[in-house]
Amino acid sequence: RKHLSRNPDELAKGIISGDKVALSRGLTLVESTRRDDHEQALEMLDKIRSNPGKSVRIGITGVPGVGKSTFIEAFGQELVENGKKVAVLAIDPSSERSGGSILGDKTRMNNLALMPEVFIRPTASGGSLGGVAKRTRESILLCEAAGYDVIIIETVGVGQSETMVKEMVDFFLLLMLAGAGDELQGIKRGIMEMADALVITKADGENEMNARRARNEYKNAMHLFPPNQNSWIPKAMTCSSYTNTGISEIWDVIETFVNQMTISGYLEKNRLDQEVFWFRETLKEMLIDNFHQTEGISQRVSQIEKSLHSGKGNAFADAKAVMNFYIAQLKDAKN
Ligand code: GDP
Repeated sequence: RKHLSRNPDELAKGIISGDKVALSRGLTLVESTRRDDHEQALEMLDKIRSNPGKSVRIGITGVPGVGKSTFIEAFGQELVENGKKVAVLAIDPSSERSGGSILGDKTRMNNLALMPEVFIRPTASGGSLGGVAKRTRESILLCEAAGYDVIIIETVGVGQSETMVKEMVDFFLLLMLAGAGDELQGIKRGIMEMADALVITKADGENEMNARRARNEYKNAMHLFPPNQNSWIPKAMTCSSYTNTGISEIWDVIETFVNQMTISGYLEKNRLDQEVFWFRETLKEMLIDNFHQTEGISQRVSQIEKSLHSGKGNAFADAKAVMNFYIAQLKDAKN
């Protein structure tokens, strides 16, 4: 494979100087699942840590069709008009299963993508959700070092990825449709409770009244949610990406949130909590990786699973035996 400049030091310098090509290469390095790339990625991340940017990290979620990409197109342009540099990253959990990606298939955010102040990275995919999420978080750090003021992380509101995204952003925005049959549209209550703002999309034309009604219903429902530890009261709003109404109001709300949470110290505390969360996730991933790489483990595991299937064995005792074998291998390796 062709050897582009992947020298961690050069990449870090390029990224910090705002070079988009270096940023793209850096992200490719972070996303790589090759073992020797990991070392280089770590080195690069270490170098850019000396130059942390200041940014607002926004998570955006909602079911397919709710209008996420159209919203980001409008919202992103609003931010650029406000003098911001904007990066958009996406997590698409469906790509792992289907082999193709819902997010990647469409031609998306065409105008936004052309703006020099904007950097859009198509879906990170491959590997476990945890792995993809971890790499997305590292990607945020690269975009920050490259001087982006607002980082948008987009995900499809259908599964577990929201929890991961919540753990890497300052502000979590949930987009919803008005009157689409089921009031909750398969959006779990837990996801609604994570939202700092809930926005009813497509509030234009005949749909405008419905959207307002839905917003009022959610506003009432949100009063019943358990209080947030940051004492922020989640906002319910409407917007139309077509008529560009309600878009700048959403940015106003986010700015208010960031100002309040900076003063109260919550923003900083939340980021430190997230650092602990990702430390734990990374450690878990490393342990599991090391376990499976250990000589003799995979044969043992598949043997045991076979015999469990045929009604022999005992889940707990067998797990314990594998663990003991693993520990013994570790001790051997040390001597
Ligand atoms: P995503 O799957 O969540 O990214 O949704 P898209 O952004 O692709 O939008 C899904 C559909 O809704 C598309 O046909 C859009 O043209 C339409 N749409 C998006 N935003 C609006 C809006 O503000 N008003 C109206 N009327 N339609 C919209």
